[in-house]
Amino acid sequence: MELSELRQILPPDQPAFRAAQVYRAIYNQKVGDLVQISTLPAKLRAQLAANAELGLPVADQIYNSVDGTRRYLLKLQDGRTVETVLMPEEDRDTVCISSQVGCPVDCKFCMTALMGLERSLTAGEIVGQVLYVARDNGLLVSNKRFNIVMMGMGEPLLNLPNVLKATRILTDPEAVGMSERRITVSTSGIIPKIEELGKAEVRPKLAISLNASTEEQRQELMPITRKWHLSDLMEACRAYPLRTWEQLTFEYVLLKDVNDTDADARRVVRLLANINCKVNLIALNPGPGIPFETPLPERVASFQEIVRRAMPCFIRRPRGLDIYAACGQLKRNLA
Ligand code: SAH
Ligand code: SF4
Repeated sequence: MELSELRQILPPDQPAFRAAQVYRAIYNQKVGDLVQISTLPAKLRAQLAANAELGLPVADQIYNSVDGTRRYLLKLQDGRTVETVLMPEEDRDTVCISSQVGCPVDCKFCMTALMGLERSLTAGEIVGQVLYVARDNGLLVSNKRFNIVMMGMGEPLLNLPNVLKATRILTDPEAVGMSERRITVSTSGIIPKIEELGKAEVRPKLAISLNASTEEQRQELMPITRKWHLSDLMEACRAYPLRTWEQLTFEYVLLKDVNDTDADARRVVRLLANINCKVNLIALNPGPGIPFETPLPERVASFQEIVRRAMPCFIRRPRGLDIYAACGQLKRNLA
C-alpha cells in the first residue's frame, strides 16, 4: 500500500500523521509485524492488525552458484512461486525481480515462456522480493551499491500499474528511499505501455529487448511483434522522453546462425541510429526445450565490434548459469 491507501484503512478518528507513521515503519524501518509499531497506541495497533496483514514472501528454495549468484524461489501468499536473483559484484549488488508468475509473451528462446502466464504480481509482491533478498543478505536497499532490474519472470509492462506503484514505494525517501536511476525495467516491446511509462512522474530506466534486426526475424523469435511491429517500436523509442541523465538500453540475445551475423550487427546499428542508447549483447543461455544454440565467443566479439563503432555495446556476462539463474532460464525449478 501507498500512503494514500494506508490513510483509508486507518479509523477516521485518527490524526493525519498516523498513516505516515505506519508507512515509515513498514518501508523505512522495515518492521516485521504491525504490532511492532511501538509509536502507535495499542488499540490502533490491534485495529490495524485486524484489518490488514504485513509480511514478506518466504523462501521455498535457495540455490547458490559458484559465481556468488543466488537464486531464490519465493513463495507468495497463494502458494505460487516466483524467482528472484541476487548478483553480488565488487562494486554493486543487483537484484533481478519478477513482475508476473510466468509470462504471456511467447519468446522462442526463453524458458519462462514455457510456463505461460499464471498471474500478475501485486505491488506488495514486487517490493516484497526486494525487501526479502535485502534482509536475507544484510543489504541496505538505500545504499548506492544496490540496484534493481525488473528482468525476472514476466513482462513488466503488462503489469504496469503495479510496477509503477512498486517503483514509487521503492523510491520514496519516506519509504524505501532508492534512486530512480538504480532501477531498470525491461520490456519485450509493448508499444502503448512504453508511451504510458514515459508519462509517469516516477519511473525506472527503460531497457528494450530488441533481439532481432529485421521485422520478419523478430516476428519469428518474438511472436508479439505480429501485434507490435518493430518499425513502430523504433518510433516509440525515438519519441520516448528520456530524462537528462538517462539513456535507453537495448538487449539483444544472440542465437547461433539465426540473428548473430555481421549483417545483423550492421542492421542493428542502422535501426538504432539517432537514439541515445547503449546495447547489451547476451549470448543465449541454453535450456531444455529451447531450440537454439549459443554462438561461439568469436562470433559474439565480432558482432560487438561492429555495433561498438556506432554506440556503446557490452557483452552481458552470464550469472548463475549452473543454477539456472541466468537471463531466460527462470522457470521455477532445476528440471
Ligand atoms: N520480459 C522482459 C523482461 C524479462 S526477460 C523482457 O523480455 O524484456 C530479460 C532478458 O532476458 C530479455 O532481454 C530477454 O530477451 C533475455 N532472455 C530471454 N531468454 C534468454 C535466454 N535463453 N538467453 C539469454 N537471454 C535471454
Ligand atoms: Fe516473457 Fe521476457 Fe521471456 Fe519474452 S523474454 S517470454 S517477454 S520473460
